Amino acid sequence: MNRAELLQKIRQTQTWDVIVIGGGATGLGAAVDAAQRGYKTLLLESYDFAKGTSSRATKLVHGGVRYLAQGNISLVQHALHERGLMRQNAPHLVRTLGFVIPSYSWWGVPFYGIGMKVYDVLAGKLNLATSKILSKSEVKTKLATVKEDGLVGGVLYHDAQFDDSRLAVTLVRTLLDLGGVALNYAPVTGLLKTNGKISGVAAKDLETSEALELHGKVVINATGVFVDAVRTMDDSTAAKMVSPSQGAHLIVDKEFLPGNDALMIPKTDDGRVLFGVPWHDKVILGTTDGSVENISLEPRPLDNEIDFILHTAGQYLAKAPTRDDVRAAYAGLRPLVKAEGAGSTKTLSRDHAIRISASGLITITGGKWTTYRHMGADVINRALEVGQLPAVASSTETLKLRGHSLEQLPEPWQVYGSDANAVKAMQGADVAMSTKFALTEAQVRYAAKHELARNVEDVLSRRTRALLLDAAESLKIAPRVAAILQEELGYSSDVVTAQLESYKQICQGYMLK
Ligand SMILES: Cc1cc2nc3c(=O)[nH]c(=O)nc-3n(C[C@H](O)[C@H](O)[C@H](O)COP(=O)(O)OP(=O)(O)OC[C@H]3O[C@@H](n4cnc5c(N)ncnc54)[C@H](O)[C@@H]3O)c2cc1C
Repeated sequence: MNRAELLQKIRQTQTWDVIVIGGGATGLGAAVDAAQRGYKTLLLESYDFAKGTSSRATKLVHGGVRYLAQGNISLVQHALHERGLMRQNAPHLVRTLGFVIPSYSWWGVPFYGIGMKVYDVLAGKLNLATSKILSKSEVKTKLATVKEDGLVGGVLYHDAQFDDSRLAVTLVRTLLDLGGVALNYAPVTGLLKTNGKISGVAAKDLETSEALELHGKVVINATGVFVDAVRTMDDSTAAKMVSPSQGAHLIVDKEFLPGNDALMIPKTDDGRVLFGVPWHDKVILGTTDGSVENISLEPRPLDNEIDFILHTAGQYLAKAPTRDDVRAAYAGLRPLVKAEGAGSTKTLSRDHAIRISASGLITITGGKWTTYRHMGADVINRALEVGQLPAVASSTETLKLRGHSLEQLPEPWQVYGSDANAVKAMQGADVAMSTKFALTEAQVRYAAKHELARNVEDVLSRRTRALLLDAAESLKIAPRVAAILQEELGYSSDVVTAQLESYKQICQGYMLK
């Protein structure tokens, strides 16, 4: 996977069948679906793959217990089906996880017990494992640090967990394996039109500043919270389609929630749910949901979000985490589909929407990571009508993603699946870069050579998860990462200095002290 070769292929291709703008879950799902059907497919991403919302999720592959409580049965059932497919198609990245709902009231156990039985039934034959009622002592065995005062019992149910940016990298590689092309650091700057109809995109290679004019039969706008900016490139009067909502997460050490199961708090003070989820030997606490006006690729958790998460977790955990315990804090923006007259963003639908403009620009947004595959199939079904492409049915339901493997590997190799041996074959597989998380020099080299990582942030934030696992520690190892990238990619010392300065700025946004 050499970026220069990909760029060359882009220059040499006269007309693409499908051009996808945006390299997050939605764009990657669409591009993989198109390439799997045999269409000539190109995906362009402004910055890095999953730089936006798709690296900032709670990392759950779920039907959405909250939507079940809201009575949105079809959304839940559909997401549970996709959850099962994701587990089958990427078992190296998606694992079944137990969630415990502790109950402090007599009615909570039967109430949530029945609810989770419904959840099991809705998952049908793709259910991961059966839910069950837990006694007080069983809750304590599973969640050793849960508050005991007033605890009556609990309910155990199952969802799945994944590594979001690693899934994005896996989809990029799957796309390339299928003959498609994906390029990062290549923003779309305008849309090409012929006789009033969309006929391609104008883009820029940020590394060389080369301007590119790329022709395509169909152009799909999958830019998350940025879809409205691209819609305006098509029609300056286009109505806004997205209502962005921010969610924040805090990462704390495993001692706050040891064990293998997640904590699910079913009703927070603002009527949502909050999770404590074990992830790569740390715990993710989150999330929040509040509408925001200004959208950015680096949204920051707000003070009130941080306080809310710490306060809510502290109500359930024997030792309440404080700001000093936070290893990293991150936020993401949900691209929720706008609804006229809706109240708060937490009531907006989590379903996806597709709009086709008069000139044929196809925009897809909303949904969630869990439903990325179905969203991809749905939008390509529409694209083949718009672009008059030869009709081929989607077959991603059974498409095994790159690295597919049922083998269980120790950290940090699990996320590579069947590619793990290729990573281990790189120089430095036995050189640990930190004592705070599992990361070897070989992974950095592999990211540069085979995963299109271009800078220190790509490596520490999305090819590996060092930034999220411990932001301060990731900053300490950044110079070594930069030195390896310099060796692998031939960067000048000016480039290295600029990358380190930029990483420092970004990293500071993830640290609370
Ligand atoms: C706090 C939070 C928690 C979540 N947790 C979960 C969860 O646990 N499970 C789950 O299933 N879902 C979860 N979600 C939802 C899920 O993360 C999102 O639905 C999904 O990541 C959205 O992906 P996207 O591709 O639409 O947007 P993005 O990931 O934002 O991708 C859009 C991309 O388009 C690029 N772009 C923008 N403009 C241009 C341009 N002009 N040219 C080229 N590229 C451009 C951006 O750089 C960006 O990378 C969560 C969301 C949030 C906010």
